[in-house]
Amino acid sequence: MTITAVSPATNKPIKTFKEMSKKECLAAVGKADDAYQQWRATSYDQRKQVILAFAKELRNRTDELARLITLDMGKRISESRREIEYCAEIAEFYANGAEEFLADQPMDRVPENAYLHYEPLGVLLGVMPWNFPFYQVVRFATPNLMAGNTVLVKHASNVPQCAQAIESLFAECGLPDGAYANLFVPTDYVEDIIADHRVQGVSLTGSEKAGAAVAELAGKHLKRSVLELGGNDPFIVLEDADIAQAAELAVQGRMVNAGQSCVASKRFIVVKSVADEFLERFKEALGELEPGDPLNEDTTLAPLSTEDAAQQLHDQVQSAIDAGATVLLGGDRPDRDGAYFNPTILTGVTPDSPTFDQELFGPVATVYVVKDEDEAVELANRSSYGLGGSVYTQDKDRGQRVAERVETGMMFLNQPTKSQAELPFGGIKNSGYGRELSHLGILEFVNKKLVHLG
Ligand code: NAP
Repeated sequence: MTITAVSPATNKPIKTFKEMSKKECLAAVGKADDAYQQWRATSYDQRKQVILAFAKELRNRTDELARLITLDMGKRISESRREIEYCAEIAEFYANGAEEFLADQPMDRVPENAYLHYEPLGVLLGVMPWNFPFYQVVRFATPNLMAGNTVLVKHASNVPQCAQAIESLFAECGLPDGAYANLFVPTDYVEDIIADHRVQGVSLTGSEKAGAAVAELAGKHLKRSVLELGGNDPFIVLEDADIAQAAELAVQGRMVNAGQSCVASKRFIVVKSVADEFLERFKEALGELEPGDPLNEDTTLAPLSTEDAAQQLHDQVQSAIDAGATVLLGGDRPDRDGAYFNPTILTGVTPDSPTFDQELFGPVATVYVVKDEDEAVELANRSSYGLGGSVYTQDKDRGQRVAERVETGMMFLNQPTKSQAELPFGGIKNSGYGRELSHLGILEFVNKKLVHLG
């Protein structure tokens, strides 16, 4: 069997890769375990040199690597470059911070001499998505390598060029052979990997469906797991917001990665007295985006990741319309080759619409008009997801109050949800569990061992 990279800008195949056999896959698990015995014995300083070398290579080869992202999944080239730079920042953050994050913690509340001592667990599996094909892997791999674990990655099947490039980068920066391995395997090998006694945990970023499948396997085989799943982030505009700025940020929040981000702003909840002005500005700005080649610096609208993704989004929009939604902008696909979808605004999506609680993974905004702050919060919380969200008001205290009432893992005032190496990232409800990034991200797959010396 093979895995083929297909450019979503043209829907034409680019390059084909051979899948591993089950035997080759399990041999990689064995190698990762051998590498673990060696890697866990290294000092933080030795690991730091390797991860800093990895970051340096990312910076040196930004243009070449960004091009692979754009070819594999269609991201605009400037966003691809930013993704690579951000990966270097994450790698540097963990290279420089790991020793401090994993320093022994005294147990201050007992008179005895007792402390927490952090130790690596062993081989970990990452099951990763295509939407940020470098970032998703780097935010999982670099803290865990710094902690002394070793890493296997089953990447999404539509980003094989990126998957291979990440493995080569790690190999070139001095990791022991096998300490990071890309597995070109079908999803049905995932159970064999999780079940293997040498594998200690699994982290999945992706859809709820894949998350539930992997969590079930992790439970069955008693392995630790982290799930970073979908989101339906509310973007709450109160009547005292700077509406021009909120509309501008709404475009940024919705259109990051052509709308294919778990923390993209997806549900725009606007207080009635400012709704017309907000909608007019939002519609005008979204309407200016033009589809084009994502490798071209001037392109403002990239394709979605695959033709299937564009068709699925089209079906979701159509079922919202069938259930009574109004299309204020877009609603269809442009007349050109590639997996494009026009920027779209839907209003009148009611709770009984099938789309109400679905994640729209593309450039489609749903707008809800509410009477006041309380109704905005109530609607924001009426979601099975709980990843991120943002609130817009010029009254900081009010913004803080609303931020604390919304049921998500992350809330931002006057800016859409963002990811930053120093800040924890993760959700509640069907958006998953566990945290990545920040000092919390490195604590997910370590043994927090109590050492009691009496
Ligand atoms: P996906 O279909 O769930 O795929 C994610 C990964 O899981 C891929 O490697 C996929 O492999 C694998 N996979 C799929 N089904 C599986 C199964 N039954 N068992 C084991 N592995 C399985 O998700 P996607 O469409 O690529 O990504 C979009 C979703 O990810 C959205 O919901 C988005 O919100 C979410 N996401 C969340 C975060 C976060 O941090 N919370 C970040 C980014 C994206 P194949 O490619 O081979 O199918």
